[in-house]
Amino acid sequence: FPYTTLFRSIGLTKTYAASKKMPAKQALKGIDLAIPRGSIFGLLGPNGAGKSTFINILAGLVNKTSGSVNVWGIDADKHPRESRAALGIVPQEINMDPFFTPRETLELMAGFYGVPATERRTDEILDALGLGDKKHAYVRQLSGGMKRRLMVAKALVHTPPILILDEPTAGVDVELRRSLWEYVRKLNAAGTTVVLTTHYLEEAQEMCDTIAIINHGQVIAHDSKRNLMKQLDSKEVVFKSRAPLSTIPAALQETESRLDEEGSLVLRFQPSKIGVPELLDRVRTAGLDVVDISTREADLEDVFRSLTTA
Ligand code: ADP
Ligand code: MG
Repeated sequence: FPYTTLFRSIGLTKTYAASKKMPAKQALKGIDLAIPRGSIFGLLGPNGAGKSTFINILAGLVNKTSGSVNVWGIDADKHPRESRAALGIVPQEINMDPFFTPRETLELMAGFYGVPATERRTDEILDALGLGDKKHAYVRQLSGGMKRRLMVAKALVHTPPILILDEPTAGVDVELRRSLWEYVRKLNAAGTTVVLTTHYLEEAQEMCDTIAIINHGQVIAHDSKRNLMKQLDSKEVVFKSRAPLSTIPAALQETESRLDEEGSLVLRFQPSKIGVPELLDRVRTAGLDVVDISTREADLEDVFRSLTTA
């Protein structure tokens, strides 16, 4: 691994013990990840893939079964305090004491991390996350979006070099999503390495430079976004014809094609090999009276399809 690796997990496994309701579950089957310093790293995977288990192990909320975690050369088992100090973690579930104000909440966290009073950035962080005018409100009076932002604020009190966010935009409105990403980008530009989990590929595509995909507790891809997308090399184009189609024209049947609900022709193609204008020519030659064209980028589903059927 290059010296620029800030964070590594090696062979991390987790088996949840069986309970009355559920059999034992191996949620992580040996996760090896190397996270480059300065990156915005996306941990992608469908629900149940093991993302939160991974993050919660880092946060000390879940005990790992085996494997190790290493932050910049520091083994997390041998030096839990030091390695914990390097991480700011925003769990998926909102967990906060409802009887403290945002300001008190951050002060408590800062105290927990041993940040001296003179070095605390409580008000600065609250302002940056748009909570400045709510700092004396009780947490239980905050909206869901405000609580989400307060979770992020809590993770930043000790100025960690690595910020880890578990599905920070699941169920939040568009405006909060936008402002959150703007802020995360700003932190990253100022030197913070960011790890975020999501099950939205478009989000990872927009935000991340490096991506790992996990499925059933295993890493199935781990690469720069650029390489991953190149590897995919798959897009869809939809040709709407004046009259809905009921069958695919014979001349186009050898291309990966289907009809959508509206009777439009959908072709899957490799952008590196063929362009939309050329496809349009073919479709017209096959006799289609095209009135509209739209393309669709590959999404997480496509990545999975390509990774699991290749
Ligand atoms: P993700 O965050 O990617 O959706 P999770 O890490 O939450 O995935 O879950 C991974 C798997 O582990 C799922 O099958 C889930 O049902 C199971 N799991 C998660 N937490 C527990 C738990 N506390 N006890 C038993 N099984 C769990
Ligand atoms: Mg999760």
